[in-house]
Amino acid sequence: MIYRRTLRREVACTGIGLHSGKPVRLRLLPAPAEHGVRFARTDVGVEIPATLAHIGGQDHATTLSHGGVSIGTVEHLLAALSGLGVDDVRVEVDGPEVPVLDGSAAPFVILLHEAGLRPLAVPRRLLRVLAPVEVRHGAKGVRLVPSEHFEVAYSIGFDHPLLRHQALSLRLTPRTFTEAIAPARTFGFLREVEMLRRSGLALGGSLENAVVIGETGVLNNKLRFEDEFVRHKILDAVGDLALLGLPLLGRLEATRAGHALHAAVAQKLLATPGACEIVAPERAPVVAVHARDPESPLESPAYSLSTS
Ligand SMILES: [Zn+2]
Repeated sequence: MIYRRTLRREVACTGIGLHSGKPVRLRLLPAPAEHGVRFARTDVGVEIPATLAHIGGQDHATTLSHGGVSIGTVEHLLAALSGLGVDDVRVEVDGPEVPVLDGSAAPFVILLHEAGLRPLAVPRRLLRVLAPVEVRHGAKGVRLVPSEHFEVAYSIGFDHPLLRHQALSLRLTPRTFTEAIAPARTFGFLREVEMLRRSGLALGGSLENAVVIGETGVLNNKLRFEDEFVRHKILDAVGDLALLGLPLLGRLEATRAGHALHAAVAQKLLATPGACEIVAPERAPVVAVHARDPESPLESPAYSLSTS
């Protein structure tokens, strides 16, 4: 039997927000079983659960919002929590963004190791994919298919000599996440960064927290992995899929996708009758999932899907 897990003790760090460029204090606190992952904006006194129903925006990063208050750039922290198997935690932030730190999930992994993990007296349930679901937008696409493990197969391709094609497929465990995925940093193209700056975004962005790709190469000294870019896309996908609210038993196959498609396929999984079920680790079905059933333990999608 696998039990839900929370933190052993409270931990905190301070860093700047990628878009605001302002300092933010982040605290991670132990929480009771079934609390889930919840953000608390302590500066305005609003709590925002980390679920698909609270997605407020997905332009360049994932933002959650509730009652007109939002918290931005949540995906790297969510990836670290999901990657290490933390089910219940309270995340306090005193500003509108999670600190970007080095642009990867590695500092959050270190923070979680510092906190230590503690099992709770409630068995963990998983969300198992039973039938494939797919969302496509032209050359971009995402699919969730059944698997006995949580796996991600990702491929990217950009119109840039450095990034024509990268692909990676792996099974996510706390170990593979920590070693192969967590250290991969956010990346952006120099021309895009300049555009974001002009519109008052990415003000906190620098070579300290992102890999910046210029016309002829990477502006940073060196990459952490030769294929750091596709690894970061897997990191983002793990963070976005964490918004399902339960660990996933299935395989994500993504081509040139991003935050919006990751969330769209997760929404579609919940909204498609018979596409998934909630299981205890022994695989015995516990509850059938009907996304629009108010009794469903998972929240119903609050925004409509645009699929093609
Ligand atoms: Zn990212």
